[in-house]
Amino acid sequence: MTAHGRMTHGKAARTWLATTLAFSVAFSVACGGGAAAGSPTPTGPTPPPGPTPPPADVPTAPFVVGREYTDANGWVQYTAGDAPVVLIAPHGGLLTPASLPDRSCSGCVTANDTNTQALARAIADTFTARTGRRPHLVVNLLHRRKFDANRDLPEASGGNTTQLRATWEWLHAAVDTAKADVVRRAGRGLVLDLHGHAHTIARLELGYLLTATQLRLSDAELAASGAFGATSIARLVGDARGAPGGAELLRGPTSLGGLLQARGVPSVPSPAAPAPLVGEDYFNGGFNTQRHGSRLGGPLDAIQIESHFTGIRDTNESRGRFAARLTDALLELLATRYGWQP
Ligand SMILES: [Zn+2]
Repeated sequence: MTAHGRMTHGKAARTWLATTLAFSVAFSVACGGGAAAGSPTPTGPTPPPGPTPPPADVPTAPFVVGREYTDANGWVQYTAGDAPVVLIAPHGGLLTPASLPDRSCSGCVTANDTNTQALARAIADTFTARTGRRPHLVVNLLHRRKFDANRDLPEASGGNTTQLRATWEWLHAAVDTAKADVVRRAGRGLVLDLHGHAHTIARLELGYLLTATQLRLSDAELAASGAFGATSIARLVGDARGAPGGAELLRGPTSLGGLLQARGVPSVPSPAAPAPLVGEDYFNGGFNTQRHGSRLGGPLDAIQIESHFTGIRDTNESRGRFAARLTDALLELLATRYGWQP
């Protein structure tokens, strides 16, 4: 563990909190959240609630690239970066402090996404070694039975908002801080929310907030439905660099799924698997993808990556190999769609 900056109140952070903590939408279930195959189409975003007061301890600039910052309890960690990528690892925490009761909410998922914290760190380090530029990294260090960092506050905390409100706010403030840094340095960028699934088919499930039912529409039907504007990459779809159109960005050869498929990592959606078939499980994106992508506006897009276990996150070797392939795919995506090169 490198230096831990203790963070105090900051005007900039307060502003970020005031503007961004206001958004809170949730229709997520299970691991990474989002509907399984055949679930109802999500409707528009819930109107934002009133402003939330900032926690006593939030991440505040200036940050040193590569330095780790933690909240007052040591439950959430932010590693500052300088690349236009923000990685979130919400379900790979290992801490189970006795001072924090287990979440007891009805229907809450409490199982971790095994090794996803290590996966996120491998991706950050591999990207940095390759480019000399570091992705921002936000890690929930708490085990999911204590805190779920991909839910709205009531479910994230299991109702224990007294102990966990500041944790939840700190985590999202850290992501907001990272996003602001991306905007400052590069203008545009991408948030990746990293999860692990236990579904039958060994492939990545990339979540853009479209349901499996929506993805089963043809490209033309999907375009006609207006669904691209409600994805977590809505900004990219509307961007000049998104000229190929929403379907290409979502599942064409130059989409993240297409770029990964070309590097030997099967994914849905992608050219080989444009949509989950009827009956196939699929996570389409949860709270973080909604909140931190461009569905509600904002300059950063978001994609939820739900990974299978074997060959991706089971061993150190798997994680390193996948991190290299993902880095390679991301570099092409960032160059072609976001106009960024290291
Ligand atoms: Zn998850």
